[in-house]
Amino acid sequence: MTDTIFHKIIRREIPADIVYEDDHLIAFRDIAPQAPVHVLFVPKTDIATLNDVRSDHAVIIGRLAVAAAGYAKAQGLAEDGYRLVMNCNEYGGQTVFQLHLHLLAGAQLGHFGT
Ligand code: C5P
Repeated sequence: MTDTIFHKIIRREIPADIVYEDDHLIAFRDIAPQAPVHVLFVPKTDIATLNDVRSDHAVIIGRLAVAAAGYAKAQGLAEDGYRLVMNCNEYGGQTVFQLHLHLLAGAQLGHFGT
C-alpha cells in the first residue's frame, strides 16, 4: 500500500493548510505555490498515478474536478479562469505518488508544453 506525504496530511500527521474536505477527498494549499492560488485536490482512495486509474475510478476523478471547479467559483476565480493539472511520472513532473489535481489561478498563466 502506498504511503505518501499526502496520506500523512489526510491522517493529520503533518500540517497542511486545508481548504476543503469531504468523505472522498481533501484539498489544501500547495506548500510551494506556482501561482497566487495553488490548491491540491487529493482523493482519499489510494491511486499512485494516472497510469493506475481504472474505469471504476472515473467517479473519483470526477469528484476532484467538481471540487476544484466549485472551489474556484466560490473563491471568485471562475470568471477570470484557472488551470487544472495532473502530472504523471517523471516526464510529467510528478513528485508525490498519490494522485492529485493542481488548481492554479489568480494570474495570467503562461503557455506550456516544453
Ligand atoms: O505534481 P507533483 O507531484 O509534482 O506535485 C506535488 C506537489 O505537492 C508540489 O507542488 C509540492 O509543492 C506539493 N507539496 C505540498 N506539501 C507537501 C509536499 C509537497 O504542497 N508537504
